[in-house]
Formats: sequence, C-alpha cells, structure tokens
Amino acid sequence: MARLILKPGREKSLLRRHPWIFSGAVHRIDGDPGPGETIEVRASTGAFMAWAAYSPSSQITARVWDFSESARIDVDFFRGRLQRAVEMRAAVLNPSRTHAVRLVHGESDGLPGIVVDRYAGVVVIQLSSAGGFRWRDTLVELLAEITKAQTIFERSDAEVLQLEGLAVSVGLRHGAALASAVGVEEDELQLLADVEHGHKTGFYLDQRDNRSLLRTLAPGRAVLDCFCYTGGFTLSALAGGAASVLAIDSSADSLAAARAHLELNRLSGAELLEGDVFQVLRRLRDQARSFDVVVLDPPKFAPTAALAQRAARGYKDINLYAFKLLKPGGLLLTFSCSGGLSRELFQKIVADAAVDAGVDAQILRWLGAASDHPVALGFPEGEYLKGLLCRVAPRARRG
Ligand code: SAH
Repeated sequence: MARLILKPGREKSLLRRHPWIFSGAVHRIDGDPGPGETIEVRASTGAFMAWAAYSPSSQITARVWDFSESARIDVDFFRGRLQRAVEMRAAVLNPSRTHAVRLVHGESDGLPGIVVDRYAGVVVIQLSSAGGFRWRDTLVELLAEITKAQTIFERSDAEVLQLEGLAVSVGLRHGAALASAVGVEEDELQLLADVEHGHKTGFYLDQRDNRSLLRTLAPGRAVLDCFCYTGGFTLSALAGGAASVLAIDSSADSLAAARAHLELNRLSGAELLEGDVFQVLRRLRDQARSFDVVVLDPPKFAPTAALAQRAARGYKDINLYAFKLLKPGGLLLTFSCSGGLSRELFQKIVADAAVDAGVDAQILRWLGAASDHPVALGFPEGEYLKGLLCRVAPRARRG
C-alpha cells in the first residue's frame, strides 16, 4: 500500500480530526497510488495518522476515511458509514414532515466528497473527490441495499470536479429510469425536484428549516423573495398566509418551475419577476416600494476563500438595498452559501450594509442549514450556509 509522509509538524490538523491533507503538508509519497486509491498517512516521526483517499490532481492531496490504524477501507467500512448517516437522519428528522432528505453530507458524515440526497423513492448520489469516484459502484450497491430506492441517479457535475481533475459523471446507476421531476411532500407542500437538471441534486434541501421559519413569520406580510429559484421560500410564505410575494430570479426556467409549484399547491398571491436582483432592487427603491419581509438567498458569490473579498461587495450591495426596502419593524432573512466566507465576515458585511442604509437593526436569530446537513466539529468548513434573521428598528430611520 502506498504511503504519504507528512512534513514535520503538519500532523496537527489531523490530530484535531480535520480530514484534509493539503499538498503543502506532504513531504513525500512512497509508492505509485492511482486516483482515489487508499493510502496510509504517517507523520514525519513515522506515527500512523490515517487512512485516506489519494487525489493526485487536487490541492487537497488526500482526504481521510478513518483515523484508526485498525480500520479497513472496504465494503463493510462504507456500509457502516452509510448506515450511520441514514440512522442519524431517522433520529433527528420527523419522517412525516418530509420525503426529501440529505442522507450523506460528505466530510461531516465521515465520507469526504460523497453527498447523497433522497427524494421519496429516488436517491441521488453526487461525488466530488477521487476517492468517491473510485468507490462509486460499491456506494451505489450499498445505497440500493440500505435505502431500497427504486432509482439511484448520479449527479457528479459540481464545478469543483475540475479542481479535482475528474470528469463529469451523470446518469442512471440503479433501478428504474427517471420519468420527470420527482414529486415529494414537505411540510404539506407538494414539491418537484428536477433531479436530472436542477441545481445541486434538484432542490435546496438545506433551507428546509428557514422555509418553515419564514412560514411562521409570513401571515399578512408583504414578502420579497430574491433569488427565488423554483420558489421554495415563496411557497412557504404563501402557505403561511403572506398577503403578497414578489419573487425575483434571472432564470426563466427557474421561474417556470416556480409557477408550476404555485399551481400544484393552488397558491396565489405571488408575482414572479425575471430580472437581475442587483438591478431590480434599485428599481424597486426608485419606485419607493417597501416590504415587511425580504429574503436574500443568492448563489455562491465566493466558492473559495480567495474570492471572498470580491464576493463581499456583492453581499453588501444586496443587503444594503434590502434594508432600504424594508418597512420599519420589517424582517430580513439573509444568507450566504459561500464556503469561502466566514460567519463573522458575513455578519460584518450585513452590519455595514445596515449602517450605509441608515437603519438600526438587530439580529433575532443566527440561521444555518437543516440538521440533515451536519457539521463535523473537526471540519468547520462544513458550515457553508450562514444566515441571519434581522429586524429593522420600528422608527429608527436616520436617512
Ligand atoms: N432561494 C432558492 C435558492 C436560490 S439559488 C431556494 O430556496 O430554492 C440561486 C438562484 O439565484 C438561482 O435560481 C439563480 O438563477 C439565481 N440568480 C443568480 N444570479 C442572479 C441575479 N444576479 N439576479 C437574479 N437571480 C440570480
């Protein structure tokens, strides 16, 4: 078996159970491992550190499967990890609440580069590391066994594949072919997940708890849903009794899907607007429009830490205009799903936006992904979705 030897002192992060080994920490590799092959990781002292998957093309040279020397990375290892992940969801999610669940959340479930989402009888697997790719067939067989899914579909097409030197891999891997979007129920709403072509694996499962929060805040309110995609927040606002929803997205296809969602759930009161949020917010401001609740759920502006500065400007801009559009006492649900942007920095950006908008605001709640998207304590990068529920002070407008 090939062996990776770390530079002196570079075992520290592994001792804290962080699963990534960056290329800069590698002293040498003994042997000639192929992509995704299991390698042994040792400290410069020779001490055993971990079993990991080798990623020759990535900045992350290896991702840890297990920190215990006695572990064996084989079919039973993956069966155990998958079962543990599935059992966690069963323990924390009420199955009558939703048919759409993230079953495996990569590093935070001890399965780096492996995401598995379930939409009723359809399971979607999304791989993003050489290790995940190497074990694809095993993972599909085990998922068929554990979940009894009618269909297992692979959606390994995330942008990060390029960084890993991996080719897109999409298609049916087990069972019956997909006919169309998969119907699921969540919080008594009928949802359609376009597993084959939709964002991520078809739907933003991570926002589930924030959708239900909005539902409780919505009664009688005028809501603005920015970056609405297929209308997740819009549906929840209307189901909660919102007086009106203005939903904006730049994608006509996403708005068509949102319209289908509204019809399917027989919900009315939403206006769907195709446009660039950055421009539409300015236009709404010029028209002196105002709202009781604004949702900002933009795409990843900063996929990596290197892009965080530029992304900061984008977040600042939309939050500034959202504050300007809120009525006194109004509520802002604002999110960032940029892995490269910390919660602290995001909160600072929102605070600066409020100052520039001339409003005083309070944080009522820190928001994040639902509990089927756990964050391993040793892997803070797992906390990619950050959000704030803010309230603009009732009569504090200064400018
Ligand atoms: N809130 C959604 C998910 C948002 S995903 C949900 O809960 O389901 C981000 C969305 O932003 C995508 O639908 C994309 O089409 C849209 N988008 C990206 N840039 C945009 C822009 N500048 N203006 C408007 N929409 C944009």
